[in-house]
Amino acid sequence: MPSTTGYSITTRKLRLCCGHPDWLRKTQELYNEIESFYYDLLLKREELWELSSQKTMRALEVLTIMGRDKKIPEVPIPWEKVPLYFRRAAINSAIAAAKSHISRQSIIPGRKAEKLHSAVTYYKGMYRDFSHKEITLKVWTGEKWQWMRCRLYGEIFPEQAELMSPSVTFEKKYLMLHVPVKEFTADTASVKQRIQEGRRICAIQFTNGDAFAVGTVCDGAGKEIAVKFWSGGKEYTHRCNQIQKKIEKARKSLGEEKQPGENRKYWMRLKHLSEYYAHEVSTQIIKFCLKNQVSMIILPKYKKEYTDYVMIGSGNWGTLHLSTGIRRNLTYKAWKNGILVIETYAKGISETCASCGAPIVSVNRKADEYICRNGHRGSRSLNSARNLSRKCIQQLGKQVV
Ligand SMILES: [Zn+2]
Repeated sequence: MPSTTGYSITTRKLRLCCGHPDWLRKTQELYNEIESFYYDLLLKREELWELSSQKTMRALEVLTIMGRDKKIPEVPIPWEKVPLYFRRAAINSAIAAAKSHISRQSIIPGRKAEKLHSAVTYYKGMYRDFSHKEITLKVWTGEKWQWMRCRLYGEIFPEQAELMSPSVTFEKKYLMLHVPVKEFTADTASVKQRIQEGRRICAIQFTNGDAFAVGTVCDGAGKEIAVKFWSGGKEYTHRCNQIQKKIEKARKSLGEEKQPGENRKYWMRLKHLSEYYAHEVSTQIIKFCLKNQVSMIILPKYKKEYTDYVMIGSGNWGTLHLSTGIRRNLTYKAWKNGILVIETYAKGISETCASCGAPIVSVNRKADEYICRNGHRGSRSLNSARNLSRKCIQQLGKQVV
């Protein structure tokens, strides 16, 4: 794999079944004890706080483990025969917990650390025979270390993906194996490189009308190649409102007293509906971009206060509200397809006409229309997307022809 290849990491969750769940519990307990030991030690050693995680790990090992010189360490680890990679995983968890504690500046001198519950991460040497169907883990039975074969139930792993150190978690009735999966992306030329090569970009603007979003594709010189509106917003809002009505009805029939869990199924339906649409729209945008050989997607960036203000104005189930979910989905779907996503500040993009640069003199928000001083008229959101595209190209150091 060339070194310039980019990657994304997602966590896959598989159900795990084994003959001795109690051994996994014991392993977890031992892990957390070792983790707490190192956590407490690290909090006492202020001189180690500024070091990188790797150096901290090294320093903690020198303090606790006998080296080749057979010298007794300063604070010997109170457990015998802990496998090297088990200990290192526990130290890493301890360092992460301590660093977050230190950064919160909430250390009370002399106070014992809270109990740690990090899941056991199985580093290399602690697992073998790993596929989507099974894994063999090295576990602590309470008396000795032993290999235990476990069955797995879940989706098959993507081809070419790299499986990273898995961890075991206890989720209600089930044992789960969490596996970080590293997937390599096809095309990771940098932004600068892509612009220099004149590759295509697609600028997106989100709207609160029937269109969830509008996109404009142009080449590196700013020449427009394709335009698309992704609509369905009215249908989405309508479906949300139908569910809202049911919630209201149920609330009235139950009296004003709210009961926990009441209407839960309707709220879940609303949640699923918005997830479904965010997924659908983002997939359609990616398809459009792939069809038009888009190399970068440009999203408008706003100041947080502005976003909050607009979101409140657009209503909870308005089209614009879905933009948060669409953005999130777009980012990882684009990456998997070798498309970069970059954000450009949206300031000023809705004030001028993209055709002639003259100020906009009149807008009709409801109809998504604008008129400029020279009489050009058209879709307000498409105009903004065009301006965003231009702004981005200019900022990236290329003049629009
Ligand atoms: Zn104009």
